[in-house]
Amino acid sequence: MSAVMDARTRLVATFRAMADAGLNHGTSGNASVRLVGEGTAFLVTPSGRPVETLAPEDLVAIRDGHADGALEPSSEWRLHADLYAAFPEAGAILHAHSSFATALACRRQDLPAFHYLLALFGGTTVRCADYATFGTQELSDAAVAAMDGRRACLLANHGMVVHGRDLAHALLLAVQLETLCEQYWRACQLGEPVLLTDAEMAAAQAQFDRYARLTGNPG
Ligand code: 13P
Ligand code: ZN
Repeated sequence: MSAVMDARTRLVATFRAMADAGLNHGTSGNASVRLVGEGTAFLVTPSGRPVETLAPEDLVAIRDGHADGALEPSSEWRLHADLYAAFPEAGAILHAHSSFATALACRRQDLPAFHYLLALFGGTTVRCADYATFGTQELSDAAVAAMDGRRACLLANHGMVVHGRDLAHALLLAVQLETLCEQYWRACQLGEPVLLTDAEMAAAQAQFDRYARLTGNPG
């Protein structure tokens, strides 16, 4: 199997895994993977296609803003393109309308440091990007700004987006973010959660760094 064919198979499998994990329903969300050795070029899921019938050949390649495929690329292809350009370390990008992340995004608030695992996303918060219409350059601009120094953001009244070093890492982060949003929501039912201080979050980050050195797993 060629490297590009392999990337197509893995992207379809990851998009299916997002649905299986309950992150997306119907035709919500989209996913992409950077084409290794091709700079900012990437493969992205087609627009409005349910994952159940998605085949590797349905994926659309985007190179320098030009789509190459039989189907229309995801309406969010600009978001994916701009994130690959802004974050050279991003190897895969997942966008979901998962229920708890979306519920919090409807409050247009950042997810605060209520749990040390927020450090996985590169800071003490996961920011909520300003609202913009889906599929627009404005939405992409808002997300790129909200993800400065981060691996994820919420999209106001819409959902979430994450980038990871590869598809497996991105899927892990998306599942982790949805879980954290659910846990934050549940904690809020009991009253105002106690938040970790910047020093406590820095200590958690240092612990992750130590763990990464010991295990070879960058987290
Ligand atoms: P696409 O099917 O065009 O990828 O749109 C789904 C979506 O989530 C838009 O924000
Ligand atoms: Zn969406």
